[in-house]
Amino acid sequence: MRDLSTAELLTAWDRARDQPPTQEALVWLAAVYPEHSIEQLAQWSVGQRDSCLLTLQERLFGSQLNGVTICPQCRQRVELAFNVSDLRVEPTKVGPIVPVGGVMTLTAEGYRVHFRLPNTLDLEAIETSADINSMREQLLRRCITSVMWEGVEKGDGEPVSNPTQLPMTLVDAIAERMVEADPQGDTRFALSCPDCNHEWFSTFDIATYFAGEIHNWAKYLLREIHSLARAYGWREADILAMTPRRRRAYLELLGNG
Ligand SMILES: [Zn+2]
Repeated sequence: MRDLSTAELLTAWDRARDQPPTQEALVWLAAVYPEHSIEQLAQWSVGQRDSCLLTLQERLFGSQLNGVTICPQCRQRVELAFNVSDLRVEPTKVGPIVPVGGVMTLTAEGYRVHFRLPNTLDLEAIETSADINSMREQLLRRCITSVMWEGVEKGDGEPVSNPTQLPMTLVDAIAERMVEADPQGDTRFALSCPDCNHEWFSTFDIATYFAGEIHNWAKYLLREIHSLARAYGWREADILAMTPRRRRAYLELLGNG
């Protein structure tokens, strides 16, 4: 992962803004991994993508993350403060390493299912799904590459054309295997409400969080550029080439610090 200059960060922000969240994440991956095409990056598993975004978040803004959620029991606002390391999957917990686009196999309940891990293209495809059920159905259709019914009497087995007709226990087992193989793609953390002591698990989406952070950073930087350009007549490129410390020093001299 390469480091980006302030000017490169601002260019990527400009490119990423107003894109759907999944595309926005790809713009950032492409910025830090220029050796890969967007098409290749879109096929990285969701866990690989999120692991990169966590690293980028940590490099640019430090390891502390803050947020607000609502207690599902008493509807109280709960402030969150946690660390990037709380969300990182320990290497020992990482399941079998599946190469990009690699096919996994699950044999259960008389079926043999071949499937791959969800990637950004899959997230993009389900973004407009009406509800969680149609989202799940679409994901299955996309990620299951083949299903054979191998009931004991059937011998060689026969192909099953509709993967959404599989028994629910089998679908759950597939989902479980996906999480085992790509644990960073399903980040959950334990929460407890300081008011009613209710405890629950919440998911964390680094793509949305990072998008919010970089947007605030860019708005702040543009205000700095605006103030310095207006006061001194300097070009944007020259102001961007300065260190943050030097920009702040000039702003203090102007009484804007
Ligand atoms: Zn509560």
